[in-house]
Order: sequence, then C-alpha cells, then structure tokens
Amino acid sequence: MNVRVPAKINLCLGVGPVRDDGYHPLATVYQAVDLHDEVRATGRDDDQITVSVHSEMDVRSEISVVPDGDDNIAVKAARLLRERTGISSGVDLSIRKVIPVAGGMAGGSADAAAALVACNEVWGTGLSRPALEVLAAQLGSDVPFLLHGGNAVGGGRGETVSPVLARGSYHWVFAMAHEGLSTRAVFAEFDRLNTGAEVPEPVVPDALLAALRAGDAEALGAALSNDLTEAAFSLRPELEDTLSIGIEAGALGAILSGSGPTALFLASDEAHSLDIAFALSSAAGCADVVQSRGPVPGARVG
Ligand code: ATP
Repeated sequence: MNVRVPAKINLCLGVGPVRDDGYHPLATVYQAVDLHDEVRATGRDDDQITVSVHSEMDVRSEISVVPDGDDNIAVKAARLLRERTGISSGVDLSIRKVIPVAGGMAGGSADAAAALVACNEVWGTGLSRPALEVLAAQLGSDVPFLLHGGNAVGGGRGETVSPVLARGSYHWVFAMAHEGLSTRAVFAEFDRLNTGAEVPEPVVPDALLAALRAGDAEALGAALSNDLTEAAFSLRPELEDTLSIGIEAGALGAILSGSGPTALFLASDEAHSLDIAFALSSAAGCADVVQSRGPVPGARVG
C-alpha cells in the first residue's frame, strides 16, 4: 500500500501571543504543493511496527536526522490508529523522503498523515476521513491539513482546517537551505523578540483571500505574509539575501515557508519560474532549487 503526500506552504502565517499551554494561536492559509513524500505500508504477521527512511536527494532531505524508531512521527501515527481501533496488527513502514527535513514544509506531519491513510487501508480499520482527521490533530498542528490538501484556512494552533474559496494553479519556486531550522527554536526567538510587546490576535488578511478567490497571482504575490520572518532572519541572517535574489529576479512575492528556512517565490508562469530558479541556483545560502505547482490534493493512495 503506497500513499503519496504533499508538502505544505503557508500563504500567510499570522502568529498570536503564546497561550498557557505553550502553543501560539495561528491564522494561516495553507496550500498543498507538488513536492511529495511516499509512505509504503506492508502488513506483518506479528505486532511489530518498523520504519525505514530513504531518499535519493541527500542534501535536501538530511534524512540522517529523521528518527528510524518509535520517535518517527509516522510510527506514532500507526500506534495511535492501532490504539483507537483496538487492533493488534503490525506494519513495516517505508518512507521515501523528498520534502526537506526541518524545512518549514511539514515533511514529518506529511508522513504522519500518509501513515494514517496507509495503515487504515492495510489493516482494514475503515476509519472515515473525518475520523482520521481527529487522530491527525492529536499528532500535530499541520497533520489534518495534509490529509485535506488543496487550499484551506488553518486556525487554533493550525489543526482546525476549513475550506477556502480559491481559483487557479500557481507556479512556485522553492529555495532549500543547506541546513534545517527547528520550528521550536524559531517560535522561541519570536517570543524573545516580542518580550514586553503586545502581540495582537492573528488574522488572515482579506487581500489574500480576495486574491485566491479571483485566482489573481499578482495580487496573491503582494499579499503573501509571514509573522515568523523576523525571528527566522535573526537566527539565519543569510535568508534575507535569498529572498532579495528572488525578488530581484522578478518574483511576484517572496516569503519564508512556515518557520523556514525554505524560501518560496511566486512566478507568473513556467518560463518566469525557470528564470527565478536560475537566479537562485547561484545564491550562497541555497542548497537546492525546485520548481513546483499548487494546489494539489492531500494524502492519497497511489
Ligand atoms: P513544520 O513545517 O511542520 O514546522 P518542518 O518541516 O520544519 O516542520 P519536519 O521535517 O517535519 O520539520 O521535522 C522536524 C523534526 O521532526 C526533524 O528534525 C526530525 O527530528 C523529526 N521527525 C520525526 N519524524 C519525522 C519524519 N517522518 N520526517 C521528518 N522528520 C521527522
């Protein structure tokens, strides 16, 4: 059973004041993009759950830091599904990683979403998509969206996903950094930079929703926003140069993906996207450049 699952980007990422439980309220618009991990699940005769991780793109994926035991979030997903359905079956999970590790594109969450779908099939547990979404929310903030795919508004700490009216297919260029950035460290830096300041409740900008409704790439480019930018720049000053190079190459918009360090650039068409990719390929802070499209569907068998 093979499940393909996309990466996510945040077209806007509004971050509110830290809550008592340590999480920050988020107001985001997610888009699933054409950069996929694959999770293969093979049933076992015993109750073991194993995982192996592979990649053909070592630089981008840094797969050596991906746990190959119980800490792997795909294993946690399989265990949670087993617990909730009361079965005792085992499974071998094999993950083919393409989504950058610690890149701000929710690669781990994507694998968790894929593992839920794959194990639900292999074990014949028959949970509906809404039932899987409940489990997904317990695994991580981005996991429900990666089941969903397309475009969606994310609230709460990101796990509350609601549909958004959207038109159009967008051309993206992603600049992957040489080294990942910890989401936790970027949020801690956000808190440090905002010490003593009144952080407002986050909102999704109206201009962004209007651009998506109209399918207007130029307006979407102008409306892209990310409240974690300053914090990520503070930890990785060279990211500012990467964004500038894409903007100079004529990108309609440029922001960091989630907590970074992947930078994303919106292009008007395929040729424009190639120009931007070419300009970025010589940037010092850039390990790899990928052209992609979005939106695409969420975790799917196939
Ligand atoms: P997000 O965008 O959701 O904040 P990210 O894309 O920046 O996350 P991930 O690639 O999801 O970061 O991984 C963050 C950490 O989670 C990794 O450094 C790794 O130690 C751990 N991890 C656990 N399981 C996985 C997995 N299946 N794939 C990748 N990382 C995993």
